[in-house]
Amino acid sequence: MAQTYNTTGLILKRRDYQENDRLFYVYTKDHGKIEIVAKGTKKISSKLNSYLEPFYLVNLMIAKGKVFDKLANANIIKSYENLRNDKELIGFFLINYLSEIIYNLILGQTPQNKKYELLIELLDILDVEIIKERENKKEWLLFLSNIFMLKFLNHLGYRPEIQRCLVCHKAILLTKNIFDFSRGGVICEDCKKVCLIEDYIKVSDKVIKLLQLAETKDLKYFLSMTNGHDEINEFNKVLQRLILVNTERPIKSMEFYKVVP
Ligand SMILES: [Zn+2]
Repeated sequence: MAQTYNTTGLILKRRDYQENDRLFYVYTKDHGKIEIVAKGTKKISSKLNSYLEPFYLVNLMIAKGKVFDKLANANIIKSYENLRNDKELIGFFLINYLSEIIYNLILGQTPQNKKYELLIELLDILDVEIIKERENKKEWLLFLSNIFMLKFLNHLGYRPEIQRCLVCHKAILLTKNIFDFSRGGVICEDCKKVCLIEDYIKVSDKVIKLLQLAETKDLKYFLSMTNGHDEINEFNKVLQRLILVNTERPIKSMEFYKVVP
């Protein structure tokens, strides 16, 4: 009998494979991003299909295989129904946004621990926040997701320098700073005058503060914050550029974000 193992993870993506099968990419705590084949799942009648939707949190039993490991059994731990059933489709966007970026950022099969737990914490928060009435909900939930993204990038070793100027190393004062994407961090007004910087945007003091807080405070801290619409949009812009620099590919799901009301 084939050797089997059990693991827990989030389904990131799937694609058709051969005549009746599908390949699934799963983000797991113990093994990072794994690729498994699920036999017969291209058929509508396959009972496994109901367990294998994107961002279902599932328990998996997997059999070791020569080319691909094979899904032997699955059951759902959590399905984040509020995100999934959101009529405004913001939830659908968030699932796509997070799965796309995590799929692109996680390359090897290494234990994820903190990064994985952080994602589960975010999903629990989003699944509650999505059913609350709120102005600019789309921007707000993307903001929470991007706070997570900054922490996730930090854990991956892609930490941007936010506390000190990248050039002179002086503590960042809250005045006329820029974010330099090619160097990966904040540069002060004095250094900006003497450096050749091509890929940058100006960042307001409030957003510098938010970036600094995102490094140190946990996700729940931001739930009680009352940030202005402009700061949130500015923060989201900085994070999108930062993700782009680190994944080296455009975020396709942002096309969908633009059309969500
Ligand atoms: Zn400086």
